[in-house]
Amino acid sequence: MTESDFKRLLPNLKKRPHVVIIGAGASCATLINGDKYGKKISAMDNFIKKLGMEDIFSSVKLETTSKNLEDIYSELDERNDCDDVKNKLEVRIREYLKSIVIPDEPTIYDYLLLSLREKDLIISFNWDDLLFQARERVSEITKDLPQMVFLHGNIGVGYCKNDIEYGLITNKCTKCGEKYTPSQLLFPVKVKNYNSTFQLQNQWKVAKDYINRAGFITIFGYGAPNTDVEAKDILLKAFKCFGNDKRFFEEIQIIDKPGLNESEMYDKWSNFIHISDNHYKIISSFFNSILAEFPRRSIEGHLKRNYEDGGWWGNSKISLTNSPKTFNEIKELIQPLLDNENNNNFEII
Ligand SMILES: [Zn+2]
Repeated sequence: MTESDFKRLLPNLKKRPHVVIIGAGASCATLINGDKYGKKISAMDNFIKKLGMEDIFSSVKLETTSKNLEDIYSELDERNDCDDVKNKLEVRIREYLKSIVIPDEPTIYDYLLLSLREKDLIISFNWDDLLFQARERVSEITKDLPQMVFLHGNIGVGYCKNDIEYGLITNKCTKCGEKYTPSQLLFPVKVKNYNSTFQLQNQWKVAKDYINRAGFITIFGYGAPNTDVEAKDILLKAFKCFGNDKRFFEEIQIIDKPGLNESEMYDKWSNFIHISDNHYKIISSFFNSILAEFPRRSIEGHLKRNYEDGGWWGNSKISLTNSPKTFNEIKELIQPLLDNENNNNFEII
C-alpha cells in the first residue's frame, strides 16, 4: 500500500469502532474491594456453594460432579423432574445479582464507559447490571457513550416478545409499546444455539456487525470458557470477514488479572491474534490499556502511533492511567476532549 493510498483510507479508519468484550473478570476488577457494602461477586465455578444456594438442591440428586453453574443448569434443564429446582435457582440468582451495588467512587466500569464513544461497542457476557449502574452516573458527564450488548442475557436488559427489540428492562418496546420481558439468564450449555434464541438474536447481530468493522478489539476478563465455544466461534467468524486475508490495521489487547499466564492467554486467543497479523498485547490492568492511554481517542491513538507517523512514541496529555479518584477529577480531565467533540474535532490532545 502506498503512502497516498493510506492517506486516502485514514479518515475512514479513524471512524471505525473500538469493540470491548467483557467477561466476569471485568466485573471482578470493578468490585476489586467488593460492592458498596463489601459484597464480592462470584464466578461460575463454585457459584452455588459460594452464595450458599445449596439448600435449593436438597430435593434432587445431581448426576454431574461439576461445580460449574452452567453444567449444573444443563442437567436440570434436561431432566423433567427438576423444573421446580430450576426455577428456584433462577429466582435466587436474580435476587443475588440485584443486591449488588456499585461503590460510590469511580470504578473500572466508569473509566471504561468514559474511554469509549457512541461509535464503539461493549459486548458483555455478564449477568450483573454494574455497567448500567455506572452508565447512569457517567451520563452526567457525557451522553456520548458506547453501545452495549449482553450476549448471555442480563438482569438489566429486557426484550420484546413481539418484536426483535431489546433495551433497558425499565423501558418499553419502541415498536409496540409493550413492557419488556426480563431476559433469560441461564441457557443449557449443549443447546445454547444463539442464532435461534429469539431474545438474543438482535444483540448477536449487532455484536457481529461491530466486530466486522472493528479498528481495535479489547478482550477484558473474558476467559471464553469451554462451555462457550460456540460464542467464541461466532465472534471469530465475524472478525475473519476478509477470508484468509489478514487485518493489517487492527490490534487485539487482552486485559487479564495481575499474575496472568501470558502463554495461556495467547493460546486462547491465537486465532484472533493471527487474523490481526500478530498485532497484540497482553496486559494485566485496564490502566495499561490503550483505552486508559487515549480515552475517547483509542483508534486515533493507535493509528497515529503505529501507522500515521511511522513510529510516533508520544502520549496523550489526557489519560486515565493514573486512575483519577473522583468523578469531578475525571470530568475536569476529559472536558477538553468533550468540548472538541462538540465541534467534530477528534484530535488527540
Ligand atoms: Zn415490541
